[in-house]
Amino acid sequence: MRRTQVGIVGAGPAGLMLGHLLHLRGIDSVILEVRGREYVIDRVRAGVLEQGTVDLLRGSGVGDRVLREGMRHEGIYLAFNGRRHRIDMTALTGGRAITIYGQNEVVKDLIEARVATGRPLHFEVGDVAPHGFEGDAPALRFTVDGEPHEVACDFIAGCDGFHGVCRSAAGNDLRVYEREYPFGWLGILAKAAPSSSELVYSNHERGFALFSMRSPAVTRLYLQCAPDEDLAEWPDERIWAELQARLQTDDGWHPNEGEILQKGVTGMRSFVAEPMRYHRLLLAGDAAHIVPPTGAKGLNLAMADVSRLASALAAFYETGSMRLLDEYSDRGLRRTWRAQRFSWWMTTMLHRVPGETPFDYRRQLAELDYLVSSRAAMTSLAENYVGTPFE
Ligand SMILES: Cc1cc2nc3c(=O)[nH]c(=O)nc-3n(C[C@H](O)[C@H](O)[C@H](O)COP(=O)(O)OP(=O)(O)OC[C@H]3O[C@@H](n4cnc5c(N)ncnc54)[C@H](O)[C@@H]3O)c2cc1C
Repeated sequence: MRRTQVGIVGAGPAGLMLGHLLHLRGIDSVILEVRGREYVIDRVRAGVLEQGTVDLLRGSGVGDRVLREGMRHEGIYLAFNGRRHRIDMTALTGGRAITIYGQNEVVKDLIEARVATGRPLHFEVGDVAPHGFEGDAPALRFTVDGEPHEVACDFIAGCDGFHGVCRSAAGNDLRVYEREYPFGWLGILAKAAPSSSELVYSNHERGFALFSMRSPAVTRLYLQCAPDEDLAEWPDERIWAELQARLQTDDGWHPNEGEILQKGVTGMRSFVAEPMRYHRLLLAGDAAHIVPPTGAKGLNLAMADVSRLASALAAFYETGSMRLLDEYSDRGLRRTWRAQRFSWWMTTMLHRVPGETPFDYRRQLAELDYLVSSRAAMTSLAENYVGTPFE
């Protein structure tokens, strides 16, 4: 049977970054991924990196491309009642900013770095099953082309996303906190130059919309829709008409249109599993928590988790001390719940809720009006949006 120090399940941003940080500290790991390499690289998801994520990429030697190609944004717009209002995040946070750089680009950079180390990264494995983590002999069993394999390890890192196997392996000892939202996002990627250099979050009476981008030539746009919206009912012309209706403002600003390269519907959920550590099984990223994407926190929380986890594992291997591993869950949950609160707040402030009353909508508009006219309120938004430094 093969042996490693840390068995990592999942080659999303959390698993790949954890493997990379462990490698830099001389700690061996095996990464197992159920999907194929191309699938993992092509998966279009998040695109807003907190300063802490960019600092982590740069500090660990995988930041060249994000620094070269990422787009630093110092503000965002909130649009309502036909007007756009800029929140100057950098001025309000003493110089912090976000960077627009696709999650798939982060994943591509991390896969390249992993391959260069020669440490194992297995795609298209099957039947991954964590074992023995309640005692001192954890192991990962899995199959490759139907053949059974096993890797013995000291710890198992469950970085296998919301639908993975690691969280459920911890069984009934996890406590789950959950909220599903009665709406989702219809997202498109379009071959169109962004018509605004910064993101625009719009609360429109027809529903929420978000203007975003991935590069100087590609725009990323979202529309609030039903959680089970049928894409077949959304030909390109209807998508553009709805986006224009919800995003255009009285000063004539509107998104540029172009060929739609990709479209999809995502449901919205808030979810936390506590604790994040179960004996020698450690959960990180979406395996432990999900946030609605309005606050742009999912990818960044995953990065904060693995940054803390890598330090805790390094301390264990250097000194034999379990102290940081013992603290891993409590410290992570503190950051997670703050991100949950912020993501819930952004979501409820900006979306139209089915069955809401006219009172509810007027209250939302009043909240937005207060927000853009109060330096204190804008500072609160900006601090949360750019994120606090990673521990
Ligand atoms: C459809 C979608 C759209 C999103 N859009 C946005 C967005 O617009 N903005 C935003 O901020 N956030 C968005 N998010 C959230 C963000 O992408 C996640 O928070 C982020 O991917 C978390 O990284 P992760 O590594 O923890 O999990 P994941 O990226 O989910 O990675 C987990 C990996 O584990 C693999 N895996 C699963 N099960 C197994 C198994 N049994 N064995 C081995 N491997 C397994 C998966 O294939 C995957 O590669 C989106 C998420 C989804 C699902």
